[in-house]
Amino acid sequence: MPTLRRDSFTLLRELMRWRVALVLSVLIFVLMIVLGTVNTRLDLPDTAQLAWIVLAIAGACIAALLTLPRHLGGTIFFVSIALLLVGVMAFGLHHGRPMQHWAYIFPPVIVFLVRSDRALVAMIAFGVYAAAMIAPLIPAIDVIRFASGYGLLVCFMFTYALLQERAAVMLRYHSDHDALSNCLNRRTFNEAVEQLAGPRGTAEACTFLLIDIDYFKAINDLHGHLAGDRIITQVAAELGRALAPGTPLFRYGGEEFSVLLLDRGLDDGRAVAEELRAAIADADFQGVPVTISIGVAHWRRGEGSITATLDRADRALYEAKRSGRNRVVADAPLA
Ligand code: GH3
Ligand code: MG
Ligand code: MG
Repeated sequence: MPTLRRDSFTLLRELMRWRVALVLSVLIFVLMIVLGTVNTRLDLPDTAQLAWIVLAIAGACIAALLTLPRHLGGTIFFVSIALLLVGVMAFGLHHGRPMQHWAYIFPPVIVFLVRSDRALVAMIAFGVYAAAMIAPLIPAIDVIRFASGYGLLVCFMFTYALLQERAAVMLRYHSDHDALSNCLNRRTFNEAVEQLAGPRGTAEACTFLLIDIDYFKAINDLHGHLAGDRIITQVAAELGRALAPGTPLFRYGGEEFSVLLLDRGLDDGRAVAEELRAAIADADFQGVPVTISIGVAHWRRGEGSITATLDRADRALYEAKRSGRNRVVADAPLA
């Protein structure tokens, strides 16, 4: 399918991460005011100083989250906290104060930034670094205690991140695909088309195939809706097999499909459509005769809207129906 780098699913994930970052930075901001004040009153100037530094970072993060694009603001927040933790460990060594209690924050921060396998490597590396920073300040047994607790936390955090990742992949599949045909769904089609034609779209040209099963109402009436459903599923599978790997196939409507051929011309589109038509006409649908009609239209950047092209594909499909069905009609190329 065309690369949908910033589709609605990605945007939703970014929005969730942005909200988490905003809530966390506000909480850290409030907490650091309390910690800074308490430590000043307890006459612990170096710890109070650390709280004021974190307070400033949290404030800057809130400003970044409220002013920058969401994905950037979220990344800045989590990167800042991760770097801060690296700094806190060195700060502790410098001031002769063991800071291992801060180290436990690193694993839940890093899983917001990178994939679970990379997060695991980063968590282990940070654990080794944190142990090295506290080792000169505390007895060896306490370093071992820290390493055990931190190691367990890493195991739990990694497992959780892995499960989240798998769940996101499943969720994404179900949000992009149609349950009956297993094709990409209409929402994904709309987003692909929107991105393609948008000012930041990378495609210069595209050929659309609109595919419609012939006399499908009669198939339903004659064999029942369940048989109709089965045929939709099988037609989708046959189309998928006939298409080159990676070519996006969408369920466009009830018994209608669409194919998007990126950077391909009208002649290529006509040839692919003819292969699809023949593949369905030759396939065995448990004795039910099934054929498809296909309308083909071409879009080029700067030559009219995608909606107009889809309209032309629809008119070509109508012409294929009108002229007898089980055929391909290509829209006349633009002069
Ligand atoms: P044509 O050759 O002109 O395309 O005729 P047709 O009968 O296929 O066209 P029409 O659009 O009149 O009928 C489409 C039928 O497809 C109507 C609807 O009941 C059926 N249909 C749409 N979605 C589904 C579905 O998910 N399952 C089943 N079984 N039928 C569906
Ligand atoms: Mg139809
Ligand atoms: Mg039909």
